[in-house]
Amino acid sequence: MNARLGILSSIVELLNLNLLIILISPIENWEYYGKCVIKLNEDIQLEWSKLVKEIMNCRKCPLHKYRKNPVPGEGSITSPIMFVGEAPGSKEDETGRPFVGAAGKFLTELIEMIGLKRSDVFITNIVKCRPPGNRDPLPEEVNACLPYLIRQIKLIKPKVIIALGRHAARTLYSLAGLKWSSMTRMHGRIRDIEIEDIRIKIVTTYHPAAALYNPRLKDTLIKDFKESVAKAVEEVLESQTIENSKTKSTQRSILDYLK
Ligand code: SF4
Repeated sequence: MNARLGILSSIVELLNLNLLIILISPIENWEYYGKCVIKLNEDIQLEWSKLVKEIMNCRKCPLHKYRKNPVPGEGSITSPIMFVGEAPGSKEDETGRPFVGAAGKFLTELIEMIGLKRSDVFITNIVKCRPPGNRDPLPEEVNACLPYLIRQIKLIKPKVIIALGRHAARTLYSLAGLKWSSMTRMHGRIRDIEIEDIRIKIVTTYHPAAALYNPRLKDTLIKDFKESVAKAVEEVLESQTIENSKTKSTQRSILDYLK
């Protein structure tokens, strides 16, 4: 009798323990969470391919008549860091890739200067097709193309956006419902904004193309990257490391508990 009671109490203890594990730990959720992550990534990838296809076939504004290739953007779609310029130039139009000309080479150097690689970030523009003669995109062209950028932001959910040039900065400020003044006053600023309920740090600085032939602007852009961009990126990466280590420590304690 005592032996049976002992076995029963052990079973109850085990059941309680399992119940306790299920109640207090995300071990079940962990698996579930794992499946969710995979599913989420698949969903994002599907949504992303759909978006790229739409951009490649887009004729929503007159810029489609002049382009050789639309330029949706490139880089990591899971990156917390996004760079947004104004519009593709001639090299970008030829290749279908963003920031590949002289300005792109300079942007790559700036990204590497703060310890990142181009492949660590996502790079795109406000409008995805090249305006003829490299003119500024017209407001109606920006308005027609902006939904694509918004969808990119919603899929990538960046923690920091670096707006390159006044057009990108002004457009993103206005998307966040903020007033833009001028790059002379606003360059190097870090601001917390919200776009589509996503909280993002925005850093505004000059476009690398504008700085290429102007040594004073070039120095300012380098300074903005070394100070503001590096600071915002560091803060974001630090908070992600803390989040990751919190998740890892929860997982470790669950596994320890099961030993
Ligand atoms: S600029 Fe944007 S809206 Fe205009 S045709 Fe290209 S992808 Fe479409």
